[in-house]
Amino acid sequence: MSGRYYDTGWWTTAMAVRLRELCEKQPLLTYAEMAADISHEFRVALTRGAIGGKIARMGLPERRRGRGEAPVILPESPRKPKPVPAPKLPGLSLFDLTYGACRWPILELPTHEYRFCGAQKLPEGPYCAEHAKRAFQPQRRS
Ligand SMILES: [Zn+2]
Repeated sequence: MSGRYYDTGWWTTAMAVRLRELCEKQPLLTYAEMAADISHEFRVALTRGAIGGKIARMGLPERRRGRGEAPVILPESPRKPKPVPAPKLPGLSLFDLTYGACRWPILELPTHEYRFCGAQKLPEGPYCAEHAKRAFQPQRRS
């Protein structure tokens, strides 16, 4: 991956990466839905127009989907794109972790936050049964 996007304003690289991901993986999303998604994730207030402009500047395929037109579906995409406005992230954020929740980090976000497993942890140790097993296994080198 060598894509780097510099831009004026408050578009960050992480936001641009997310936008590209949305364009590629969820081609049914409208600009308004993308704006809502990215605004929610990065706690900014993007407009539909900002998305359209950014897509044009990044050279991503623009889509002009008018009312009543069939949505554009990428023919070679093996996965079915799901038109969800705000994707639900797996696990829990640091702020949602409760005392009894497993603290195994499962995902690092572009914002350098982590998501944690969040399953019921064992009485001893910070992890659930599955992750306790993994934590105490020697790391395999590949
Ligand atoms: Zn766990």
